[in-house]
Amino acid sequence: MRIAVLSDIHANLPALDAVLADAGPVDAVWHLGDVVGYGPDPDGVVDRLRDVGAIGVRGNHDSAAIGLLDLGEFNDDARAAMEWTQGRIGRYTREWLTAQPLRHEAHDTTLVHGSPRDPTWEYVLSAAVAKANLAAFGTRLCLHGHTHVPIAFREAAAARAVETLGPTPGAVLPLDERRAMLNPGSVGQPRDGIPESSYLVLDLNAAEASWHRVPYDIGSVQDAMRAARLPWRLVERLSYGL
Ligand code: ZN
Repeated sequence: MRIAVLSDIHANLPALDAVLADAGPVDAVWHLGDVVGYGPDPDGVVDRLRDVGAIGVRGNHDSAAIGLLDLGEFNDDARAAMEWTQGRIGRYTREWLTAQPLRHEAHDTTLVHGSPRDPTWEYVLSAAVAKANLAAFGTRLCLHGHTHVPIAFREAAAARAVETLGPTPGAVLPLDERRAMLNPGSVGQPRDGIPESSYLVLDLNAAEASWHRVPYDIGSVQDAMRAARLPWRLVERLSYGL
């Protein structure tokens, strides 16, 4: 079973389509939340995910879009984009976002947006935080997003220790009995200095995870963002992947 794992799509439809094309035929599409927010096409992205039967979880931006989260936690640009998103999304998008759980388990894998102990807000960026979170889920694997940075944390053979793996594009991680937390990076707004969309393929038969980067038409998304009068800093950062 080959699964495309996508996170932080952020209403960026050209990026999502580029990733789906690059992944080729897969048995499932899993998403890790922040489907909307920042980008110009929230309804288009939700329509596409519904079309491909994606299964996944709700992120902080998704909760905010349907009024379940106070915008006081957002910075100025994120809040401005979220207010635009709230006024823009249609009824079907609202219903689909509402139906996404905060946590989902399948195939001995836990899906969350932020972290198992705080699916909405926690950023897992260090081995120490990952170690605390390994105690907060019961499956072998956890897939998480939110940081927009592709990374993996794995229990070391010696136990009690957690190793950090910084996957380069094309990197393949063989999966064994060791428990691990895997972050695919962001489809719609990468923040690791590489503007190309980032995603992960989880191959359960081959027992491996692989990280991939795909170029997309950044200029067309930026044009749509300018036309929607979304904050200029959000437009520019797509060029730099920061
Ligand atoms: Zn995000």
